[in-house]
Amino acid sequence: MAPRRKKIYEGKAKILYEGPEPGTLVQYFKDDATAFNAQKKDVIDGKGVLNNRLSEFFMTGLTNIGVPNHFIRRINMREQLIRQVEIIPLEVIVRNFAAGSMSKRLGLEEGTPLPRPIVEYSYKNDDLGDPMVSEEYVIAFGWANQQDLDDIVSLALRVNDFLSGVFYGVGIKLIDFKIEIGRVWDGDFMRLIVADEISPDSCRLWDAKTGQKLDKDVFRRDLGSLADAYSEVARRLGLLPAQGAPLGKPTLIN
Ligand code: UDP
Repeated sequence: MAPRRKKIYEGKAKILYEGPEPGTLVQYFKDDATAFNAQKKDVIDGKGVLNNRLSEFFMTGLTNIGVPNHFIRRINMREQLIRQVEIIPLEVIVRNFAAGSMSKRLGLEEGTPLPRPIVEYSYKNDDLGDPMVSEEYVIAFGWANQQDLDDIVSLALRVNDFLSGVFYGVGIKLIDFKIEIGRVWDGDFMRLIVADEISPDSCRLWDAKTGQKLDKDVFRRDLGSLADAYSEVARRLGLLPAQGAPLGKPTLIN
């Protein structure tokens, strides 16, 4: 029996509970999948377990190369202990190839290589559908200052280089992804760290040879089994046994 704990926040794919020590939270990964601002919804057996393990894998890798993030340790199949942060209300998106909203906006075929990685921001607000905003907006409305933005771009590009390399090593192209950034205080000193999650829910991942989609677009666009796609990502990264585990009961390695 899990002990009773205080729920701090419930989002579309995760729940945050009070952690065992001040300054910590428990992040619980649900099986719920949503798209188009929650107009499309389903429950995908095993998604939470896979995303918990995948986010652990990426955050641990980032820690190992010196990119600060909220991950402390995984607690069980669905939960991880994280640092409590004050989330900056921005979705920080990094794009290597055109896709999704950028392709629509600019009339670019999905998969078109970009001249360099592009960092952009959306204001986190479901009622407004997370509108894209510029640095001017971010600074004028006080969500972050110029120094914060410099740090955010630097973090975002380091995460991009790390993830692009890890994925390319297992035959996957990182098209784009979204991260969220949080503030933590050590005394009077404020630092920005990577928070939220890094998983196929918030990345576009294409098989490098076939172009097959291995991310949430499988759900958004009804392209097949989302659990199969995420399991394939986990398998390639060595987090699931090579022979597929039965759906809904992923048998994790470690
Ligand atoms: N993304 C996300 N959450 C959002 C919006 C976007 O994780 O609320 C991710 C999305 O999965 C993709 C990247 O950010 O990897 C860029 O998304 P885009 O702006 O193209 O929006 P979309 O086409 O997903 O609406």
